[in-house]
Amino acid sequence: MWKSNITNYYKVYKFTDKFTNDVLMWACENRGISSVEEIEKTTMSDELAVFAKNKKYTRFRKEMINVSKCEEIIKAHYLFNLYKNKYINIIQGSTKIRCTLDKETLEKLKHTFEYYYKELLDNPLFWKIYNPYEEYKTKQEVREQLSKNRVCPYCDQTYITSTKKTNMDHYLPISQFPFLGLHWRNLIVSCSMCNGILLKNSQWYLPILHPYFDDIERIIFFSFDKERSEIAIINKNKVKKITRCKQRAKNLLKLFELNEIYSGSWCEVDNEHNLLDTKIENAYHRYKGKLNKDNIYNLVEESINIRRNELKEKAGKMSFAKLKYDYSNDYRQNLDSEMLNWFIMEQNEK
Ligand SMILES: [Zn+2]
Repeated sequence: MWKSNITNYYKVYKFTDKFTNDVLMWACENRGISSVEEIEKTTMSDELAVFAKNKKYTRFRKEMINVSKCEEIIKAHYLFNLYKNKYINIIQGSTKIRCTLDKETLEKLKHTFEYYYKELLDNPLFWKIYNPYEEYKTKQEVREQLSKNRVCPYCDQTYITSTKKTNMDHYLPISQFPFLGLHWRNLIVSCSMCNGILLKNSQWYLPILHPYFDDIERIIFFSFDKERSEIAIINKNKVKKITRCKQRAKNLLKLFELNEIYSGSWCEVDNEHNLLDTKIENAYHRYKGKLNKDNIYNLVEESINIRRNELKEKAGKMSFAKLKYDYSNDYRQNLDSEMLNWFIMEQNEK
């Protein structure tokens, strides 16, 4: 729910685009290959040849045959380049492309790219060949680095520090967009629950907000119904430049079922309310006897601001930070007049 600060670590898999392109291009030029002997006779990039022409890599070679047999491989290669170059535009809905690969091609490519993702990405030789100037990192290491002291970027509830609760997966699902199986923009570390949603029924919506590229915190907001102790999430864009904002926010809420997963979180609102009350009371007692009416308002305002800054600093690192941040705003707008009157009355008695 907060934009991720994309450091170089997020781009660690940038090098894989060349590999994907190598494989797909080779398959376009060598359709219908049916044996490893045939593979060895074909031309390909030097990097690809390290694996494809080595008998040791049986599975790798098998997958090459699989890819070369895809009916719509030329289209798949075209779509890969298009999505790689226009990923953000597609996510934003400013470029509309329907992924129309036939079922069989999708199945075949999914099979191959799942293997690349699960096994090849963790292969030290693969790194050495395709990314020779960077230090080798396992997927687990990448995942741990990206999730260090962090909360899931989708739900803002679950800490993703523990590897058991962490997953790195494809934002646009591999079943429908297999050619993005290794593309860095499409790989996001999230909690297992949100990842489960991404995997379930291969659901996806476009256009949609993306945690690497959108200030989600300035687009979706929590609203609070105190009578019913109910939380709702609304979208009101505060960032004009974000295209198709309403639809994208709606799709994000729908995909991750955010309204549902927040429906049982009223106790977090109560806790935040009590915490703000306590902070104000403490501040009041510190200056008690030295305040007039205006001072009291300023003191209250300042206490809330301190808390808001605290929450902002913890954005993406503290569970429910966005909910609490929005609540502090609601709290300020609906200041408990009873409490203020009591403070003022007590001051006057002095
Ligand atoms: Zn999550």
